[in-house]
Amino acid sequence: MSKIVQIGIGGVGTVVAHKLAQNIDVFESVTLASRTKSKCDALAETLNKKYGVKFDTDCVDADEVDQIVALLKKHKPVLVINVALPYQDLAIMEACLQCGVNYLDTANYEPKDEAHFEYSWQWAYKKRFEDAGLTAILGCGFDPGVSGVYTAYAAKHHFKEMNYLDIVDCNAGNHHKAFATNFNPEINIREITQNGRYYQDGKWVETGALEIHKPLTYPNVGPKESYLMYHEELESLVKNFPTIKRARFWMTFGQEYLTHLRVIQNIGMARIDEVEYNGVKIVPLQFLKAVLPNPKDLGENYEGETSIGCRIRGIGKDGKELTYYVYNNCSHHDAFLETGMQGVSYTTGVPAMIGAMMFVKGLWQRPGVWNVEEFDPDPFMAELNKHGLPWHEEFNKDLEL
Ligand code: NDP
Repeated sequence: MSKIVQIGIGGVGTVVAHKLAQNIDVFESVTLASRTKSKCDALAETLNKKYGVKFDTDCVDADEVDQIVALLKKHKPVLVINVALPYQDLAIMEACLQCGVNYLDTANYEPKDEAHFEYSWQWAYKKRFEDAGLTAILGCGFDPGVSGVYTAYAAKHHFKEMNYLDIVDCNAGNHHKAFATNFNPEINIREITQNGRYYQDGKWVETGALEIHKPLTYPNVGPKESYLMYHEELESLVKNFPTIKRARFWMTFGQEYLTHLRVIQNIGMARIDEVEYNGVKIVPLQFLKAVLPNPKDLGENYEGETSIGCRIRGIGKDGKELTYYVYNNCSHHDAFLETGMQGVSYTTGVPAMIGAMMFVKGLWQRPGVWNVEEFDPDPFMAELNKHGLPWHEEFNKDLEL
């Protein structure tokens, strides 16, 4: 019995649902749930026409533990795939514990009133999941997600000791909009406007937001200005691979995007506190989300590709210095043709389905709360090649970092 409940059917959730439908022999049955049942019904109908599957649908406000508990009692899944927003992580984990259900997500918990993310809130559930004999798999998208699996794969197969890790995330696509974000705009803008942070010699070094940048060359793309940001998987990777002396995360942004972002901040539209407007309380960033393009609708004219990978330096298994680059390139247009979504949703949704597959097949099952790099990377890496995210390796090349 491997019944799945998937909460959230936005850009990422739509891809997850397509991939679950394509692999229904592994998953048996799926319930799609979000705040808006009509959206789940529409997606279920698309999947029925395309793949002949019959997915149940339901309505849940996943900010409310009681509502999630009722959902899980009704559908009795073995696993919840949480692809709603990071705000809902703790409520869904709590409900999973109450109902004896396993858990998987793609982004770590963030409180709504503070643009701050760290794993401590979710790691605090470790003992309770352990005692309940339940598995929670955290951060199983691309980054976090595949970035951690790549790192675990490098440690297992290529390195005696990893010393320097740089995760490099390039979106060389063009959606032909003046400004749009590739995943939920509220979560995305909160993340990018935060101070940068990287790990060096056992300490975290803080930088201004997007203060450090340099051009990096991406396969099949060429050089792109890349900006140092804090990203959540750095926190777990330096803990799980203690030989790492320096860990950083880089992401590319175009000048047009950065100019819009600066204006949004300067005029107060990135604020996450409440302001009163005509007697109504609104949060400017939430209002901005309502008027920006929905990342779900960007796919049709999206050209170009993403290129995301890990560049690692250290001592190889043979005792000699080794540099290693493992990456995937994903075409926005191919992702759209398959799922109707653009490449950023695709690169997140495919690994979430593979993580669920790892769980259901018994390959990634261990009571407790775990980050993806704590499981065996090999079966996951093999599935990436089969489900649309093939990876490539380069050895002893200039990593530029
Ligand atoms: P969207 O905004 O497109 O979709 C969010 C979905 O969550 C919608 O279906 C929405 O339902 C649902 N939802 C929101 N609030 C609630 C709630 N209270 N109760 C139930 N459902 C709710 O977001 P994305 O698909 O772009 O992103 C989804 C997740 O993926 C985010 O957590 C994001 O951080 C993560 N992500 C991870 C990446 C990675 O590589 N690890 C990369 C990109 C994204 P409704 O429309 O009915 O309100």
